[in-house]
Amino acid sequence: MPVEKKIYLDYNATTPVDSRVLDEILPYFTEKFGNASSDHVFGWDAEEAVETSRERIANLLQCKPTELTFTSGATEAANLALFGFCEKNRSKGRHIITCKTEHKAVLDTVKALQKRGFQVSFLNVDSEGNIDLNELENSITSETILVCLMLANNETGLIHPLRKIEKIVHSKGSKLMSDITQAVGKIQVDIGQLNLDLAVFSSHKIYGPKGVGALYINKKNKVEIEPQVFGGGQEKALRPGTLNVPGIVGFGKASEIAFSELEEQSTRSEELRIKLEELLGSIEGAQINSKNSQRLPNTVNVTFENIDGTQLLRRLNSLAVSRGSACTSNTVQPSHVLKAMGLSDEQALASLRISLGRNTNFADIKFAADEIKAQVTMLRTAKV
Ligand code: PLP
Repeated sequence: MPVEKKIYLDYNATTPVDSRVLDEILPYFTEKFGNASSDHVFGWDAEEAVETSRERIANLLQCKPTELTFTSGATEAANLALFGFCEKNRSKGRHIITCKTEHKAVLDTVKALQKRGFQVSFLNVDSEGNIDLNELENSITSETILVCLMLANNETGLIHPLRKIEKIVHSKGSKLMSDITQAVGKIQVDIGQLNLDLAVFSSHKIYGPKGVGALYINKKNKVEIEPQVFGGGQEKALRPGTLNVPGIVGFGKASEIAFSELEEQSTRSEELRIKLEELLGSIEGAQINSKNSQRLPNTVNVTFENIDGTQLLRRLNSLAVSRGSACTSNTVQPSHVLKAMGLSDEQALASLRISLGRNTNFADIKFAADEIKAQVTMLRTAKV
């Protein structure tokens, strides 16, 4: 059946490339195609473009350009940070702490580290998705070399109190890494103020191209990591390989736009999210997850009681919304995030993540809420 109207409400999965970003990228595929490592005019132009991007991204995050290493995305950056840090600091201890609600980019990587002899503690969360800071403090031992906690959750939008976490972690002599992928471009992220040791993030969540991301390594805190890939020496030999110049140029431009429009976009997004939550609140048995906690301005995660989630999603074919994160949502597993928050498999499967973006307007959220209400009501009626 052809779908007449399509509304995209899955901006936490990915975003469209901003047309201003696309305009800036295009010449780097054709007339400005040089290899950033080549020692001639084409190479110098490409290198200059890469360094301009690094400055633009550093400006968005308030860090030094030299603290950023380009990767193919947040997943690769998380692998490099976790493996690179743990291998380098193996002699200082073999214990890592993370949390049950992290993205798979972190969870699966620390599980791989377990196989290399590292011990990993997975912190619990409460029904809102918050960790217990006392549990964190008590879990840090003299063997703990790294604590890895995300700034904002991709499924619920929940924001962890990283400033408090940083104080605990550093007072115990450990280092702090954060997956800031979902927070960048949606809320102000001042990496210097947060005093993170390592951070990872991605271009395609901020209206830049896919396949490019970055790893932040705190210079002041003297954080060292070991390379995991070997080759031509690019990116100070931490991430060798010919640089993805068009991708990096797009990432830089997207960061420049995110920086200049951050306040306006986050206010607009939050107003729409509040309205959407009001509309969804009129559906019987609808519960907004992490409702009473600090959250991203654009993310709503809602559970519908007594509903078959698979049937609901199938009926909502004009809406691009998700269950869980994009990487795992086609496997129809109940979300590990919602389960960690105490939801049953059935409740987790009957939950939708709706994430708003730059192109979302009031008509979109009204249409979405009406559609969800109609389909939930139809499914409930069909049950009786
Ligand atoms: N971390 C979080 C919180 C994410 O939401 C995502 C993307 O879904 C990733 C990491 C992975 O990012 P990338 O697609 O750049 O590898």
